[in-house]
This record gives sequence, structure tokens and C-alpha cells, in this order.
Amino acid sequence: MKEKKRLPLATQIFIALVLGIITGLCLQSHVEYAESYIKPFGTIFLNLLKFIVVPIVLFSIMAGIISMSDIKKVGSIGVKTIIYYLCTTAVAIVIGLVGGNLFKRFFPVLETSELSYEAPAGAPFMDTLVGIFPSNFIAPLSEATMLQVIVMAILIGIAIILVGDEAAPAVKGINSFNSIFMKCMEMILKLSPIGVFCLICPVVAANGAAILGSLAAVLLTAYICYITHMVLVYSLAVKSLGGMKATDFFKGQLPAMIFAFSSSSSVGTLPINMKGCEKMGADKEITSFVLPLGATINMDGTAIYQGVCVIFIAACYGINLTLPQMLTIILTATLASIGTAGVPGAGMVMLAMVLASVGLPLDGIALVAGVDRIFDMGRTVVNITGDASCALIVSNMEKKKAIKKNA
Ligand code: ASP
Repeated sequence: MKEKKRLPLATQIFIALVLGIITGLCLQSHVEYAESYIKPFGTIFLNLLKFIVVPIVLFSIMAGIISMSDIKKVGSIGVKTIIYYLCTTAVAIVIGLVGGNLFKRFFPVLETSELSYEAPAGAPFMDTLVGIFPSNFIAPLSEATMLQVIVMAILIGIAIILVGDEAAPAVKGINSFNSIFMKCMEMILKLSPIGVFCLICPVVAANGAAILGSLAAVLLTAYICYITHMVLVYSLAVKSLGGMKATDFFKGQLPAMIFAFSSSSSVGTLPINMKGCEKMGADKEITSFVLPLGATINMDGTAIYQGVCVIFIAACYGINLTLPQMLTIILTATLASIGTAGVPGAGMVMLAMVLASVGLPLDGIALVAGVDRIFDMGRTVVNITGDASCALIVSNMEKKKAIKKNA
């Protein structure tokens, strides 16, 4: 029997996105239909993604660490990865803040008589630090506290290497669970065209063309910053540290970017991103450690979005941010982006933390909430591209190190 030729998933998702927007526009006068009959299927898709996040991160990070089978290698790759992630995220927020300030004059000032502007509160840095470490084995898994899950995975992974031969059955088990959950993920992702359609349609139906009207300036600012960050930071990094032509990198990254744009989920894009990186020459064991970690903690696009939105919200309330406040934003937005889960809409929730750190009214989130999806599509593309650039760079560095050692 001849097998039917299927459209690639990324194409299916793109078509679903366009159809979702068209259907949403048609349903503008019947928003309740979109909300009651279409949105729930989008929610099912999101729930499935949330369900798979914890096992994917847990097992793929453990499997990644175990596959290195050398503690020194884990340490060297881990340190490089974290430094790269932190530096690029800080640069991303600065780009977001600079972009926001440059385009501030195009943001509207709202007629708000009573401004609920409070004195800046200190960033809860120590609390965040303490919160990274689990005090219970089950709770991080059941509550999907991702940073704690990562700490668990790293600890257990390292312990398995140290235990050696006695841990062989565990290694087999973990690798096998890793493959099983990756398969589950693939199965869930097959539903993503339906998910994307059902998520985008009610948003367009409820907000209509107005979505793009009043918020066009801030959306455009965010997208200019996204592109600037990718072109400047990733191109330079990949070329200088990764030994790869920027054009080749973006070409190889395109399928994952399209998928991220349509699904708004870094975690959802993980399998495609892994495949893409390996195709571009990244080491498999490095990819399986760097990418799941990045999908959870490295969110440059989210950081840019937070920078732009804080400036936008402050402008809407007629507030000018001071330099110390901007510095606080850089710190809290870095932490907030680390704590953002790689699922749609997570970055907007974390925006509350950034706003609170400089005493801006949390109601401001409502101003951007209606178009969060559009911000989210772009920021997810940046998020996963940052992860991929790191995988290629660390692979290249480790390769060079190995060649030097053997020489
Ligand atoms: N959707 C983004 C991601 O998965 C996270 C965010 O909402 O900023 O990377």
C-alpha cells in the first residue's frame, strides 16, 4: 500500500494558524461560540503540554548528564551553558529596555485619575535563590516547580555517574523512560495544528482587528528588539564561538523557529530543536543537556518582552522609570525569565514579578494581556534560538578542547 504523503508538521501548524485567524475574524460577532466550543480544545492541548513538561525535563536532563559519564565534562559544559544563558539574557533585557525607551513616544498615555503607584519594593532575590532547592522529592514534580526539578535531575544524574556500575540498571531505566516520554511528546505535538487553531481563534474573535490597532506600537517595538537580539547577539556568538556562518545557523534553525512561532512553546519545540541542532553538527550528548535546560531557564525573548512591556506600562501610566529602577528590572527580569515555564503565556504571568519589583501597577498587565499571544509567538522563537546557539557553541568549544587534548 502506498503511504499517503503528509504535509510537514510546521506547514500544518502554519496553515492552522492562518485558518484560526480567519475563523476568529468571522466569529467576531459570536465570541461566545469561540469561547465555549473552540477554546476548550486549545486548553486540552495546553494541559497536555503542561503534563509532559516535568517528565521531559527530568528524564532528558538526567539522560544528558549520564551520557557524558564524566563529572568533569558535566561541570565544564554546565558552567559554559549557564554563563552563556545568563549573559545573553541580561543583554536581551537591556535591548528590550533600550528599544522601549526609544519608541516610548509612540506609546499612549492613559487617562487614569488615580495611579496606584507605590514605592519600589526590594527584589526578593534571596527568596528566589532558596526556592530553587527542593525540600521534598514529590512536590516539585507534582507542582511542576521547574527549577527544583532541574536541580533534582542534575543531582541524581551526577550521583548515577559517581555510583558507577551499580547504577547500570538505573541508567537503562532512565534512557528508556526518556525515549518513552519523547514519544509521548511527539504524539502530543501531532495535535498541535488543532491546538494552535483552537488557541488563536478565540483570541482573534474576542479582540478582532483592534488587537493590532492600539497595541501596534508596542508589538512592533518588541518584534524589532527580538530581531535585533537574534541578528546581533546570536549571529555574532555563533560565528565567533561556534565556528559557524550565521546564515547557515538561521537556515538550519528555520523549522524549529516556525514551530516555535506557531506553538508558542519552548518545551513543545524541544524535539524539533534537538533534531535541528544535531543536523547542524551539535554533539548529541551536549544537545540533550543544553536544550532541555534552556527550554526551561533560558528565555531571552521573554526577557526582551518584559523589558519592553515594563516601559510600555510605565508610559501608559505616565511614569518615568529611573536608572536604579531599570537596574532592578534587569535583575528581576533575568530571574523572572529563568522561572518562566516553556509553555504558552507563561512569560506574561512572570511579568507581574517584574512590575512589582519597581512598584508599577499590576493592572498594567491587562493592557498587554489581549495580545499576549502575538508577543508570545515572537518571544518563543527567540527563546529556542538562544538555546540552539548555546548548544552549537558549547559543542564547538568541547570539540576544540578534545582536539587540543589529543594533539
Ligand atoms: N511561551 C514562551 C516559551 O515557551 C514562554 C513565555 O511565555 O514567555 O518559551
